[in-house]
Amino acid sequence: MFSSLFRNCTIRATSRAKNVLFACKNIKYTNGARPALDSEDSQNRATSQHLPADLLSPEEQMMKDTVSRLALEKIQKHVAEMDETSTMKSEVIQELFQNGLMGIEIPAEYGGTNSSFFVSTIVIEELAKVDPSVSVFCDVQNTLVNMLFVRLGTAAQKQKYLPRLATDMVGGFCLSEAGSGSDAFALKTTAVKDGENYILNGTKVWITNAEHAGVFLVMANAKPSDGYKGITCFIVDRATEGVSVGRKENKLGIRASSTCSVSFDNVKVPADNILGEFGKGYKYAIEMLNSGRIGIAAQMLGLAQGCFNHAVDYTRERKQFGKRIFDFQGMQHQIAHVATQIQLGKVMMCNAARRHQMGLSVVKEAAMAKYFASEVATLTTSKSIEWMGGVGFTRDYPVEKYYRDCKIGTIYEGTSNIQLNTIAKCLEQERQSGN
Ligand SMILES: Cc1cc2nc3c(=O)[nH]c(=O)nc-3n(C[C@H](O)[C@H](O)[C@H](O)COP(=O)(O)OP(=O)(O)OC[C@H]3O[C@@H](n4cnc5c(N)ncnc54)[C@H](O)[C@@H]3O)c2cc1C
Repeated sequence: MFSSLFRNCTIRATSRAKNVLFACKNIKYTNGARPALDSEDSQNRATSQHLPADLLSPEEQMMKDTVSRLALEKIQKHVAEMDETSTMKSEVIQELFQNGLMGIEIPAEYGGTNSSFFVSTIVIEELAKVDPSVSVFCDVQNTLVNMLFVRLGTAAQKQKYLPRLATDMVGGFCLSEAGSGSDAFALKTTAVKDGENYILNGTKVWITNAEHAGVFLVMANAKPSDGYKGITCFIVDRATEGVSVGRKENKLGIRASSTCSVSFDNVKVPADNILGEFGKGYKYAIEMLNSGRIGIAAQMLGLAQGCFNHAVDYTRERKQFGKRIFDFQGMQHQIAHVATQIQLGKVMMCNAARRHQMGLSVVKEAAMAKYFASEVATLTTSKSIEWMGGVGFTRDYPVEKYYRDCKIGTIYEGTSNIQLNTIAKCLEQERQSGN
């Protein structure tokens, strides 16, 4: 039975931590599951918690301020070089682990930060203001990999992986293949039963964090005769014989985030490494991507805000025709319009995140938030370059990087067309049911 409780918790740094301790109160779910509420439950909750979605609790505000400071003090100085060289500095990865940002929702008993999904979105957003690559590094770990382990892991799987994921192990989420992107469940990677093991064969592409990953969650079809209902999620250690990580993609944006193919050549995986139930991998992937999309919305909005701040500060300094360019009404209207779009995106994202945290359906809300946030990021970064004139077009200022980085928001965790398809499907269902 679903239950939730307010409880005091300590957002703890890990055993190697540097004493970043936050006291917080969060809604937590005893088993990590977020089943949909029935309508009476949801009405009760809605009336008892009538707060603006984007209003932060004191604890959430403290987390936001702390991550913001960390990003400015410890990450910002590396951003240009990491972009130029397409690398994620080990110091940066260590900072994320040491400050508990790679295990945000992992329970304290496993050495995690023991916080909430909403706090994950705060962290993702704050990191993206400074570097969207670092943000997605953290996003995939928290909203996809950790979330699956926390929700579905057996006691033994949790004991083995969660303490490592909270402290020093990066995870990768392997769904896409060369022939199955938007049509994800047309995947061809197979898992064939062999005694107590499964033998995996296939190649995954576009795997975020693959360069640093110590473990992969791999969607493979273990019963192709059942179509997509044969898709099963396997835990595969990187060190397993037959696993190989391909070269990093040379990308337009989020260049510091590694994106590689991962191949499985007769990889022997114990049956005990199935995560969740046999044949339910497609369901888990859909569920994870629904909530994951809220994370990408947070990334895109953080990116937009970070870029906007740079550009607006510039317009408040730069003078033409004897006055600040910010003071021209033609500029102010554009700036105000973009600020409004960012705010709207934030409200949508926060609303989706709060709903998810309460166990309400977010299929439509997450798709809308991600779709809209990536549109807002596209508009904001493009306008920011224009507002800065020639210098905005150079690598001497950070806005051109945000412009390159934002494009991925319309592609991963479902392209914008796929979000629109999902929204349209929801609308069809709503109209059918008369809502
Ligand atoms: C940097 C990066 C990181 C990624 N990280 C991961 C990861 O960690 N794990 C993972 O599993 N995958 C990852 N992906 C893969 C990503 O999710 C896919 O690229 C994405 O789902 C799109 O698939 P595709 O590239 O095959 O494009 P396609 O599916 O070939 O789409 C091409 C175009 O066709 C359109 N299209 C396709 N089908 C439809 C339709 N039914 N209706 C309307 N339009 C349609 C699309 O919108 C798009 O415009 C990553 C990708 C990138 C680029």
